Amino acid sequence: MEVIDGNRIASEIVAELKAEVSGIKGRKPCIALVRVGDDPASVSYVKKKGQIAAEIGIESRVLLPPVTIPQGELEGLVESLNDDDGVDGILVQSPLPDGLDERAVFGRIAPEKDVDGFSPINLGKLVQEDSTGFAACTPAGIMELLARSAVKLEGRHVVVLGRSLIVGKPAGLLAVQKRAGANATVTLCHSKTENLASITRQADVLIAAIGRAEFVTADMVKPGAVVIDVGINRVADPSRKAGYRLVGDVHFASVSPLVSKITPVPGGVGPMTVAMLMKNTVKAFRLRAAGTKGAR
Ligand code: NDP
Repeated sequence: MEVIDGNRIASEIVAELKAEVSGIKGRKPCIALVRVGDDPASVSYVKKKGQIAAEIGIESRVLLPPVTIPQGELEGLVESLNDDDGVDGILVQSPLPDGLDERAVFGRIAPEKDVDGFSPINLGKLVQEDSTGFAACTPAGIMELLARSAVKLEGRHVVVLGRSLIVGKPAGLLAVQKRAGANATVTLCHSKTENLASITRQADVLIAAIGRAEFVTADMVKPGAVVIDVGINRVADPSRKAGYRLVGDVHFASVSPLVSKITPVPGGVGPMTVAMLMKNTVKAFRLRAAGTKGAR
């Protein structure tokens, strides 16, 4: 059994991007990071994104509108970033505070700057397999983890647990794409799926993205399978200073002895998400420099 080291693979990608960006003459790629309010998780995610950007040599602009910002003003802020030629990528940190319509805000981001891949145009390009689009960072990170861990997908059965727009659905769409490195047979499962364990036991590659602590147990996994655990769940742990620890959607202790490869939590998919955001930002810079704009 091999534990797939997401930290190591993400560092490799960061190092590759750093080398690429150092070769860019003149203006460097730039990402705008918009964080509304002071949600502690969002504060730490945006800080991390800024740090990794700096490490690569990507400029970042952090915008911190107050939690009271009206919907129209936030959309206006996004529009001003769309119009700013010095900005290549726009990231609006999710979740937005209650009362703000996240989907409407994401929909305002110009497709060619939508490095999170949540706008309708980029979701459409994912379905069309148009490589000028941006795939959402977590599913793109899963594909990269699999490729760099020499996991072959072609013709194999990938079972995805979860059908959210940010993880499950795009992960399934990427795995089923008609191209080298994909070409999997995909089953998407969700909370209404019947006989779930009988489906997950058929998976050559099982991707768990449901947000339920240690839900996937040994009886749900085929021996020798590859397991990708996307879940990030807090469970109470009085022995920790923070009072909690992070676990995935997979019961690592019982599942890991059975499988051929598995990602840990933390240190698996998580670090890949930020690395792929940076990869998308450099791609946005290149596409914009080449004049390839997404249709709006
Ligand atoms: P959502 O809550 O948006 O979606 C969860 C999905 O799981 C839904 O499709 C839901 O089904 C399905 N589901 C829930 N319970 C069950 C069940 N008992 N059996 C089968 N399916 C079930 O979550 P996200 O996709 O946003 O996130 C999933 C997990 O991944 C979370 O733990 C999140 O923290 C983590 N995450 C990690 C990231 C990373 O960087 N590593 C990034 C993003 C998320 P239905 O559609 O029927 O409701």
